[in-house]
Amino acid sequence: MLFGGIEGGGTKFVCAVGDDSGEILARQRFPTVTPQTTLHQAITFLKNQEVLRGERIAAIGIGSFGPVDLDPASEHYGHITRTPKPGWAFADVVGSVQLAFPDVPVAFDTDVNTAALGEHRWGAAQDWNTFAYLTVGTGIGGGVIVDGRMLHGLIHPEMGHVLLPRRDDDPLARGVCPFHPNCLEGLASGPSLEARWNVPGETLSPDHPAWDLEAYYLAHALADFMCTLSPQGIILGGSVMHQQQLFPLIRQKVHDLLNGYLVHPRLDDLDSFIVPPGLNDDAGVRGAIALAQAALAGGV
Ligand code: ZN
Repeated sequence: MLFGGIEGGGTKFVCAVGDDSGEILARQRFPTVTPQTTLHQAITFLKNQEVLRGERIAAIGIGSFGPVDLDPASEHYGHITRTPKPGWAFADVVGSVQLAFPDVPVAFDTDVNTAALGEHRWGAAQDWNTFAYLTVGTGIGGGVIVDGRMLHGLIHPEMGHVLLPRRDDDPLARGVCPFHPNCLEGLASGPSLEARWNVPGETLSPDHPAWDLEAYYLAHALADFMCTLSPQGIILGGSVMHQQQLFPLIRQKVHDLLNGYLVHPRLDDLDSFIVPPGLNDDAGVRGAIALAQAALAGGV
């Protein structure tokens, strides 16, 4: 069967079609501009793939930047809600796609829950039933799988906005989040790195003090997530985590922060507990394919 996946990010959209095994058969990416233009491009890509392959799409999964409304009983289900991104506030993502594919199941979740699902199905979390997936890039977001199911709760997790102690030697006087002076996203996202050091993070050398400070903030958040969620592991993805030197720094700081309080053999080796995505930068779009498959099977 043919499945459609849409990874809707605040910066770019990645669309793909995949088969039953979750392999990507074709993909396209384009910048996120207005909902009218970008959703039209996504729909056009999927329609073209149906024609090219002579096969109807069986289900579509959408992992979207947020905040989003995931409550099927809400009048705004399937919408992005109060985003500051111009034009996207209350954009009806599911409605637009469903209108173009009226008989096809369309599943919708956060971009990070969707990436977590992809990692659970085919990536680094295949042996874990309860874990978190954190993306560290333009923003910071977290998806959570609990006992094999994506966590929604009241709205959905907003792990990028947990509040942290600001380190005394941080040159950045205030985090870049407009809502919070000292949340994780405001202190450790890509834009916060650039605001702090006046150059894009990816241009800083691996031994720059930026990374120790970055690891300080991420480790505080991870230690809190470990105490709150009791995860069997944590996956760290996103463009900032391409800085491989962050992983050992974060693991060491998490170890120090927990201070021996959590006791389990899994925690003796944080190298296999705090890990990069097994699907690399494809976690989101392959997760969208997994979401589509789950929709056809009756839900996640
Ligand atoms: Zn915030």
